[in-house]
Amino acid sequence: KNYRDWETKKIQTTCPHCGTGCQVNLVVKGNKIVGAEPANGPANKNLLCVKGKFASYKFVGSDDRLTTPLIKRDGQFVEATWDEALTLVADKFTALKQAHGGDSLAGFSCSRSINEDNFVFEKMVRTAFETNNVDNCARVCHSATVHGLAQTLGSGAMTNTIEDITTDVDAILLVGSNPTEAHPVIGSQIRQAVQHGAQLVVADPRKIDLVHNAKLHLQVKGGTNVALANGLMNVIINEGLADEAFIAQRTEGYEALKAMVADYTPEVVAEICEIEPEAIVQAARIYANAKKAPIIYCLGVTEHSTGTEGVMSMSNLAMLVGKIGKPGCGVNPLRGQNNVQGACDMGCSPFDFPGYQKVANQDVVHKFEKAWGTTLNPKIGLTSTQVLPAAIRGDIKGLYIFGEDPIVTDPDTSHVRKALENLDFLVVQELFMTETAAYADVILPGISFAEKDGTFTNTERRVQRVRKAVEPRGLAREDFAVFAEVATRMGQPMAYDSASDIMDEIAQLLPTFGGINFKRLENPNGLQWPCRDQDDPGTPIMHVGEFSRGKGLFMAIPYKPAKELPDDAYPYMMSTGRMLYHYNTRAMTGRTEGINQISDHSYIEINYEDANHLGIKDGDKVKVSSRRGSIETYAAVGDRVMADSVFMTFHFPDGNVNEITNAVFDDIAIIPEYKVCAVAIEPINS
Ligand code: SF4
Repeated sequence: KNYRDWETKKIQTTCPHCGTGCQVNLVVKGNKIVGAEPANGPANKNLLCVKGKFASYKFVGSDDRLTTPLIKRDGQFVEATWDEALTLVADKFTALKQAHGGDSLAGFSCSRSINEDNFVFEKMVRTAFETNNVDNCARVCHSATVHGLAQTLGSGAMTNTIEDITTDVDAILLVGSNPTEAHPVIGSQIRQAVQHGAQLVVADPRKIDLVHNAKLHLQVKGGTNVALANGLMNVIINEGLADEAFIAQRTEGYEALKAMVADYTPEVVAEICEIEPEAIVQAARIYANAKKAPIIYCLGVTEHSTGTEGVMSMSNLAMLVGKIGKPGCGVNPLRGQNNVQGACDMGCSPFDFPGYQKVANQDVVHKFEKAWGTTLNPKIGLTSTQVLPAAIRGDIKGLYIFGEDPIVTDPDTSHVRKALENLDFLVVQELFMTETAAYADVILPGISFAEKDGTFTNTERRVQRVRKAVEPRGLAREDFAVFAEVATRMGQPMAYDSASDIMDEIAQLLPTFGGINFKRLENPNGLQWPCRDQDDPGTPIMHVGEFSRGKGLFMAIPYKPAKELPDDAYPYMMSTGRMLYHYNTRAMTGRTEGINQISDHSYIEINYEDANHLGIKDGDKVKVSSRRGSIETYAAVGDRVMADSVFMTFHFPDGNVNEITNAVFDDIAIIPEYKVCAVAIEPINS
C-alpha cells in the first residue's frame, strides 16, 4: 500500500465497469485516487472482482486524459477554448439542420456515464437537433432484452434481484451467460448458490468456468437458443409439468405456443442443437420441478439475428412453469455496462422517451412538448446500427458521440470507418483519444465517474449514487453542462445546477422514477424502480400478481438458423465475448499496468481436434478470415470450445475481432449477430 490511512479519505461510489453495480470505496489522497476497497452494497456484499479492485480508478489519473477541447484544422487537432469549440459545434449542427432537416443529425449516448448525463443528452438531441435519432450501446448488447421482455411481460428489465436469484434457490437455468468473467461478483454468488444445494443447468456452446459447478451442461451449437427453449417447453408440456393455473389466470397466447412447440420433440431439437435428447429432458425436469428457479441470461441470447425471439423464448419458459412474479424465480438478463440499464431508462433510444414512454404515442410526444416548452419531431428515429449505413448513404450528415467507440465495438469495422469518414461533421466527447475520436472534427474532454456526482442504475433496476472523489482534469467540464450549453446555443435554453436537479426533473416526467431523489438515495440500498412516489420503497420483484402489461404474452416462435453459417470456404463458427481481466474497448482497464501484465493480447480459442487438423499449436500466431476481412491473433488450443467452433474476445487492438464480425441484424431490435459468423483459420509460419 502506497499511502498512510490518516492521509486519506474514502468516498463510496459505484464501480464503473459491469452492470452488477458493486459498491466501492475510492481511497483519495489530496486530489488523487490511490486505492479501491469493497464496500457493503446490496449487490456485492463486500466483494469486488479484479476489475473493481484494480482497474476502477487508475485510468482516472492517467497522463493521456483529454483535458481541453480540440478542433481539427488541416487534419491536425489543435487546442481550443470552450467558447470556440462550442460555437463551432452549435453552428455546424444548426447549419446542417437548416440545410437537411433534423433527421440528418444523430447522437450516440454513453451507457458508462450517469443517468443525469444521459437524460440531458437525449433531451438535447430531441429538442435542439429536432430528431429522435438517439441511441446508446444497448443497441449492440441488450436491445433485444428491452424489446423482448417489454413485449412479453410489459417491462424490459431484470424481474428479480441479484440476492434473490442466488440465495435459497433450488435450481438455476443459466443461458448464454458467462458471469465468472463478465459479471464476476454475480458469478461468485451463483457458485455459492450451488454450494448451498442449487442445481445449475448451463446452456452454452463453450465450457465456461461454471460448467465445473453444473449438474448439466447443454453444449448447444451457437444460434440455437430458440430451438432449445422450444424443446424444453415440449418436454414440460408433454410431461404435465406446466403450471396450468398460472397460465389460465395470468397469461394469453398459450394455445398457439403449445401447438407450435409440439413439433420440437427432444429428438428434433437434439439434432438442431447437436446435443443428446436425454439432456433436454433432464434439463426440463430440473427446471420445471424446482420450487424456486430463476432463468439468468446474457449476450449469448441477445446478440443474434433472432435475439429478440431468444429473449421472448426465456419469457415463454418462465411463464409456462409459473416461475415469474415470485421470489427466487423470474427472467433475469445480466446487463453489460455499469449504466446501460440507466441509459435505456433515460430514453437514449429512437423508440422511447425517458421511462420507455413511446415516441409512437402522440400523447407522450405532447407530454414532453409541454414539459420542455418546444415542438418535438414525432417520427421514430434511427438506431445506432441504422445511423451508420445512413451516413454511408449520405442521409446522416452530423453525429455527436458521447463516450462510445464504434470503430472498436461495432461489427464490420471497415463499414464503420466508411460511415464516419462520410459524415460532414463529427463531435466526440471522451476521456481519451480513442480510435473513433481520431475521426472527429471536434473533440470535447469528458469527465470520469470519479469526478462527478450522479447515479447509475445496475442490472437489477437499482438506482445507486455515484459520488465525486476528485476534481476534473484540466479544463474538462460536467458532461451534462456541455450538452445543456450546446442546446442553448442552438436555441433551446437549458441549464442545471446539479445532477440532483436533473433527477428531480426525471422524477417529474417518469412515472417509474416518481419517488426517486438524491436525498432518498442516501439509503445504502439505493432504490429499485418502479418507485412511484415518496412512500414507495421500490420494487425488488416485478410482475407480482399482475404483469406490467396486464397478462403475460406467450409468443409462438419457430427456430431460424443464424444468417451466416460455416461452409467450405469459411468452415468454423465464431463467437465473441468478454474475458475476466478487461472491459470492452480496454479504454479503462487497458490503462492499469498490473492488468496488462496478466493479459495484453488477443487470442482465439480453438478445439484440440481442429488445431491438430490445421497444424496449429497453443500460442501459435494464426490468421482468421471472414467475408469481411482478415486479422492476426494467437491460438489458445483446448477444449473450451467444441470442434468446428471458435471464440475470440473483443478487447484488443491487435486482432480487432470486429474487423471480421458480421453486420447482420435482428429485425426487431436491430441488434448485430456478434455471436455467430463463419471464419477460416490458417497458421502463420514466421
Ligand atoms: Fe465492478 Fe462488475 Fe467487478 Fe462488481 S463485478 S467489481 S461491478 S466489474
